[in-house]
Order: sequence, then structure tokens, then C-alpha cells
Amino acid sequence: MADIWIMRIGHRPERDKRVTTHVALSSRALGAKGIYVDTEDPKLEENIHSVVERFGGDYTIKTGVTWKQATKDFKGKIVHLTMYGQRVDEALPKIPRDEDIMIIVGAEKVPFEVYERADFNVSVGNQPHSEIAALAIFLDRFTEGKALYADRDGMMTVVPNERGKTVVNKNSE
Ligand code: SAM
Repeated sequence: MADIWIMRIGHRPERDKRVTTHVALSSRALGAKGIYVDTEDPKLEENIHSVVERFGGDYTIKTGVTWKQATKDFKGKIVHLTMYGQRVDEALPKIPRDEDIMIIVGAEKVPFEVYERADFNVSVGNQPHSEIAALAIFLDRFTEGKALYADRDGMMTVVPNERGKTVVNKNSE
């Protein structure tokens, strides 16, 4: 599968720190390669680096990158998640699997230029909800669930357990 990138727009470091952190962590867990965030936020970068260091994979984060910069030289298709877009079930078969995709999610009102720049404006239901939920559902459907239990060869690995917590820590082996 080609690479999946996330572009988070409208990030306000104080107000959105939790939501944007969860946008990054959810997209990492569901198969994305990395995230661009429009407002510079070193603390957010630090938090995501710390998770990647412990749990593995090569997920990257770059803050202070506008959507115009991120999409300018991007070679693949741009998918904008919006409650006003076409139905996810109708959009999915049209999105090529052999090209990278960049998924744009907003915070507050998204400029109309984003709707025009996107190759696909996609809704996950037509009700207003959350960028985290929209992204998670879209990614799970796009990757057909394959990213969920993919091995990330981390320093810490969680072993599925019916009860209790099993964590393998390579540092203490
Ligand atoms: N009112 C804003 C607007 O008109 O653009 C939406 C704000 S919403 C809290 C934040 C983000 O969640 C949106 O920019 C969009 O990316 C995502 N989102 C919310 N509901 C969605 C839905 N039903 N389908 C797809 N994305 C959705």
C-alpha cells in the first residue's frame, strides 16, 4: 500500500493540544506515515516522538507547515474529510491505491480553498462529529483493518491478552 500522510489544519496549541495529539496517535496506529500540523508546536512534536521511540515504527511529525506548503509538491491524491463531502463508501473505490494520499482534517472552519484543492472531499456520515473519529473510520476502511496489529518493532510491545496487561520491554530483557 502507498503511503498515507495527514495534514492537520487550524491547530491552536493551547486549545487543541489533546485533540491534535490524538489525531496523530490514532493515525499512527491506523497506518499513516506521518503528520503535518500548520502551527508550530514543539511540545506536540516531543510527545509524538516519545511514543514512536517507545512503541516503534517510523511515524514522523512536522509542525509549522501550512496546508498550502504541504500540498504544493505532494505527488499523490489529496483527501479532505468533511461532513459536506461525498459518502465514504462511494469515495473509497475511486481513490487510487497505488498513489500516496494526504488526508486533510480541520479544527474549526476550513477555508473553501481546501475543498477546491482536494481531489476527494469525503464525508464519514453527514453529521458533524470529530476529526479523530472521521480519520479513524476512514483509515480503518481505507486500509481494510490491516494496520491495526501490524508489527512496529518497538522497544515496548503490547501482547494481546484476554485479561490483564502483557508488555514486552526489550530494554529489560
Ligand atoms: N464546522 C467546521 C467546518 O465547517 O469545517 C468543522 C469542524 S469539525 C469539529 C473538525 C473536523 O472534523 C472537520 O474539519 C473535519 O475534518 C472532521 N469532521 C467532522 N465531522 C465530519 C464528518 N461527518 N465527516 C468527515 N469529517 C468530519
